[in-house]
Amino acid sequence: MNRQEMFDRLLARRTPWDMVVVGGGATGVGIAVDAASRGYAVALLEQHDFGKGTSSRSTKLVHGGVRYLEQGNISLVMEALRERGILRQNAPHLVSNLAFVVPNYDWWEAPFYGLGLKVYNVLAGKYGFGHSEILSREETLQRLPTIKTEGLRGGVVYYDGQFDDSRLLINLVQTGAEQGAVLLNYVQVVGLTKGGDGFVDGVVARDVESGRELQVPATIVINATGAFADGVRRLAEPTAAPLIAPSQGIHLVFDRSFLPGDSAIMVPHTRDGRVMFAIPWHGHTLVGTTDTPIDAPSLEPRPFEEEVAFILETAAQYLHKAPTRTDVLSVFVGIRPLVRSGDSKLTAALSRDHTIHIDASGLLTTAGGKWTTYRQMAEDTVNQAAELARLPEKPCVTKTLNIHGFLPHADRYGALGVYGSDALAIQDLMRADPALGEPLQAALPYTRAEVVWAVRVEAARTVEDVLARRCRALVLNAKAAVEMAPEVAALMARELQWSDERARQEVAAFAELAERYQLR
Ligand SMILES: Cc1cc2nc3c(=O)[nH]c(=O)nc-3n(C[C@H](O)[C@H](O)[C@H](O)COP(=O)(O)OP(=O)(O)OC[C@H]3O[C@@H](n4cnc5c(N)ncnc54)[C@H](O)[C@@H]3O)c2cc1C
Repeated sequence: MNRQEMFDRLLARRTPWDMVVVGGGATGVGIAVDAASRGYAVALLEQHDFGKGTSSRSTKLVHGGVRYLEQGNISLVMEALRERGILRQNAPHLVSNLAFVVPNYDWWEAPFYGLGLKVYNVLAGKYGFGHSEILSREETLQRLPTIKTEGLRGGVVYYDGQFDDSRLLINLVQTGAEQGAVLLNYVQVVGLTKGGDGFVDGVVARDVESGRELQVPATIVINATGAFADGVRRLAEPTAAPLIAPSQGIHLVFDRSFLPGDSAIMVPHTRDGRVMFAIPWHGHTLVGTTDTPIDAPSLEPRPFEEEVAFILETAAQYLHKAPTRTDVLSVFVGIRPLVRSGDSKLTAALSRDHTIHIDASGLLTTAGGKWTTYRQMAEDTVNQAAELARLPEKPCVTKTLNIHGFLPHADRYGALGVYGSDALAIQDLMRADPALGEPLQAALPYTRAEVVWAVRVEAARTVEDVLARRCRALVLNAKAAVEMAPEVAALMARELQWSDERARQEVAAFAELAERYQLR
């Protein structure tokens, strides 16, 4: 995963790539892994860091989607439950089984949700994560010691998957590279080239670090830019009708004391009829999310005050000690790349299925879906792309392809467990230089060795890459992350030969960014 080496390979190719993928989120990287592991020549270009978009800003659930079951979308739920099982098989170091409790305050809730969640488990078939059960009041309190007791009758427990989204993404980038793909962060696609027949036959890209422009020819270009997909489509057809109805969702992060057990809370119907979760994650409590239509996507969307108020209000209805603004350690916002259909105001009713769209220019766009189904989405996209580009047919192999870091029971490595089999190499770094074993900040478990690892092995280029996506400091505790930044910059300066000025700029840029993750 050396950037220069990737660049050299990108430039060295004399014939067009079979596929050039635009966008380095779950969708694009999933496609690169699928295409490369089938044996296609594939290059992926990401304008910022891998996972800078929605793919590092999810609720961190690998799930079938209980809500879609309620909406009667059985095929979507079954597909997602199957993919949940496949992902746990292929990346056991990152996907874990989490108990979700639906607290019951009305007499009808236990039989109603009890039955629904039984069906959920039956639909999972051999990929089941555990049987749902009706809980007494006492059992509910044992699992959720901080739940509001007034009027509490009991609960229903069911099981779903939980993961670390940007860690999985980085491991997928590594998997793609191991399969022969070229994957580059900080290379923005700024144009599409067309052949004499008017079909797209490559991209014009700009290396964000050097400013250099280059042309990358391709048999087919795949637009996997999520909420930004219409912008890329308009590079080929300036008047293309929009495909995406962007909708943002926020999460608030609190310390663990708000949800001290190992179980999550699932609220099936909030005031606005949505599902909300409070989840234990990396020693913190994550609460979300919202679903607010927005006009245009941006890389750093801001939370709306109403969204913050709504999450605090909902949390206060269920938690004994109501969290307040001052308890918020971080707030992060993601944008759903929902595919348009009719009234775009009703985003909760828009399809969560993925859509493959082919423009008259031959540009293939794939959007929608969710993290959980990224593999199926990639398989469908590569099938379609190969057919459209008349590439030789090659079977998909990702159902049984281990993802980089594959290691069952990786939790034996404690906080390093998220690195799976790489945890050993990080421990070696610490053994060789014990100073690297030191934590960067007392509030979070991250060590200096992880910074070195992120730069040397995981293509981290900026302080933000390390603190937001290689480790998760920014989304767990923004203030603590700011305190870590100078030390991270010093370590990166050593690895990447930064000047003092560059290191200072990095720290300042990160502090400015982290302001957005704090409530004032
Ligand atoms: C609030 C929220 C919670 C969610 N929770 C869950 C969950 O718990 N479980 C689940 O399964 N799913 C969840 N999802 C859905 C899931 O996160 C998304 O479906 C998925 O991350 C979308 O990935 P993507 O690759 O399509 O988009 P993105 O991750 O946004 O990636 C697109 C990339 O394209 C890049 N790009 C844009 N333009 C260019 C260009 N010109 N050149 C190069 N690169 C470019 C962007 O920088 C970006 O990195 C959630 C979504 C949201 C918003």
